[in-house]
Amino acid sequence: MGQFASYDTRVRILGMGKQEKLDALKKELETANLPLKNSANLVFGEGNIDCAVMFIGEAPGFNEDMQKRPFVGRAGQLLRKNIRDLGWKESDVYITNIVKRRPPENRDPLPEEIEAYKPYLARQIDIIAPKMIVPLGRFSMNYFLPLAKITRDQGKLFRADKYFILPMLHPAAALRGTTAMNMFEATFKKLPSALKKATGVPEEIEEVKGTERPKKLEDVQAKLFK
Ligand code: URA
Repeated sequence: MGQFASYDTRVRILGMGKQEKLDALKKELETANLPLKNSANLVFGEGNIDCAVMFIGEAPGFNEDMQKRPFVGRAGQLLRKNIRDLGWKESDVYITNIVKRRPPENRDPLPEEIEAYKPYLARQIDIIAPKMIVPLGRFSMNYFLPLAKITRDQGKLFRADKYFILPMLHPAAALRGTTAMNMFEATFKKLPSALKKATGVPEEIEEVKGTERPKKLEDVQAKLFK
């Protein structure tokens, strides 16, 4: 079906609940002619579909492909530990990726793979409608904030369209060194206060509208960590 559902399909989708819509989206992803379809399993995402916070990584790795679950390898263990350390439950949040099948040899996802899976992620986000999105790493961050730079902008709270975005280093990057790990953990600790601010939306925050690219990223940064 892709982005262009028939009128009948659109009417049927309007009458569905969240879970049904996600199930229908998953079914579409299973059969759509997408890159990596013939080489890897679909890893759709998991967690609370009524969550406030949605974590979005780049693409599944070996363990995720095996278990058909996102973030279950070493990087995933670090992510899940940090969630629990906040006093949250893993089942409170939703976890997924942009690209929903493992690229061979765990290479970075290609631009055309990201493009192909993007419309499905957009629909998954719209169905779940979280209060805040936490992109993990630059691929995911640049989906929301095309001009952002991960080392400069991780840990800052942005608003793009109707979502608050708090980009973080990818947990796999955090596992590579102490500086990155400290940065990752420090940003993680900001999550509860960022979420509070995101749900109490101050008026003066500027928004990035649709796909418009801001001239300067600072123009749109929600200045919430003053
Ligand atoms: N890295 C990701 O970006 N996603 C996963 O699910 C696992 C590792």
